[in-house]
Amino acid sequence: MTEFFADAEASFNDAKFVFYGYPYDGTACFRKGASKAPDEIRKHSYNFETYLMELGIDLCDVSANDWGNLKITKNQDKNEKSLTELVSKIVDAVKFPIGIGGEHSLTPAAVQAVHSKYPNLSVVILDAHLDFRHEYEGNPKSHATVTRRVSEIVGLDKVRSIGIRSVSQSEISEARAIGLKFIESGWTELREYLTDVIDELDGPVYLSLDMDVIDPAFAPGVGTPEPFGMTPYEVLQTINFFADRIVGFDCVEVCPKYDNGNTSALAARIIRHLIGAVWQSQERFK
Ligand code: MN
Ligand code: MN
Repeated sequence: MTEFFADAEASFNDAKFVFYGYPYDGTACFRKGASKAPDEIRKHSYNFETYLMELGIDLCDVSANDWGNLKITKNQDKNEKSLTELVSKIVDAVKFPIGIGGEHSLTPAAVQAVHSKYPNLSVVILDAHLDFRHEYEGNPKSHATVTRRVSEIVGLDKVRSIGIRSVSQSEISEARAIGLKFIESGWTELREYLTDVIDELDGPVYLSLDMDVIDPAFAPGVGTPEPFGMTPYEVLQTINFFADRIVGFDCVEVCPKYDNGNTSALAARIIRHLIGAVWQSQERFK
């Protein structure tokens, strides 16, 4: 890590929001390079004012810490174990974990820890891909199996996927057969859908943002770009809907090698908005 995320200047003990980087892209199937994203997103976080105009708050007033990057080995199980341990340490201290990927396989390991702390946890996943395979290229912990693994931790009825537009035929048949709830991108009534989800899901929510949910016109620098995506504003809208109940977050799949800087900047800015929105609406993270 060359520099910490902008304004994450508090000590671990004093902070309510804790960043960690997961520089891993071992299961990436198309464009590798997401391992460079944590540091790149940190770099771009310095582009922005501390004041968030859309929320009327200043991030200087929010106590955040950047724990740094997890040490990555060739052993994925070992990496995920250390990730779960770190996130447990964060949530057990009633702090808010912010994972910066790295690839999407970060999420099940983080959800495992957050779910131990909040047993009635729901998980909202923003992703172009359903990620609902049992395994991919022989690996059950691939970034293409994230939603499947998460649903095994929190229960199928506690998962919602938003922005979907890429699946295999067997994946979608099975998802429909067993009742995984998801919404395709291009849905014109996102607000209405989100209102329904808010009613259906009680209690704390973990939010996972796979940056490829956003249209490649806005976020081209990702591992597996997929046309016909959401706008950044729709992502903000989704965050705002859940802000008063989000207890953990990750932002994954940025691939700096294919980015002119704008995708990392967008990721950093969305993360900054999320911190502001959560801080503003939840006493426990003040
Ligand atoms: Mn994904
Ligand atoms: Mn994806």
